[in-house]
Amino acid sequence: MKIICIGRNYADHAKELGNNLPTEPLFFCKPDSAILPKGNPFFIPDWTQEIHYEIEVVFKVNKLGKFIQPNNALRYISEVSIGIDFTARDVQDELKKNGHPWEKAKGFDGSAVVPEKWIPLSEVDIHNLSFGLKKNGTWVQQGNTKNMIFKMDAIIAHVSQYMTLKIGDLIFSGTPEGVGKIATGDVLEGFIQDERIFELKIK
Ligand code: MG
Repeated sequence: MKIICIGRNYADHAKELGNNLPTEPLFFCKPDSAILPKGNPFFIPDWTQEIHYEIEVVFKVNKLGKFIQPNNALRYISEVSIGIDFTARDVQDELKKNGHPWEKAKGFDGSAVVPEKWIPLSEVDIHNLSFGLKKNGTWVQQGNTKNMIFKMDAIIAHVSQYMTLKIGDLIFSGTPEGVGKIATGDVLEGFIQDERIFELKIK
């Protein structure tokens, strides 16, 4: 399976990092080895001084597809939840400056927090879904999918022009504003519509 991540999909987050708004969905991939094993804490790697959390709504692909049309696109996803796209921001800034690919900063081991609990799409309105992240008990990110620049139909249609979507693939749909640094001892909690989906310790 692969993990497809959408970048700069919330205007206020693009602004906080000084990026222009994209004119088409911006995506990159994490390898399956990036998935943090269930129940494990996240260990800050020693090659970075600045790991950022990015809380994101995650969709699970349930159907094989290529060249998917927007009007059909939502049939290719079945469940939704939230996860974290951990990012080594210092490393990413250096890579961006040099025009290099982001994999080192985005695809390292443990960088994809994938929830154990999933919600069927039939139970929620994916175009008006609130979600957020607490750090040490305080809200640090709160978003709503209604503010996504590119909606899931446009994302699926776009990505599938280049990459075949396969059953079990995950799509991280972008983070809202409020990203920030983690430190040893922090506890992160992810919420979707006031329901706590995960708790994660940082070591
Ligand atoms: Mg992200």
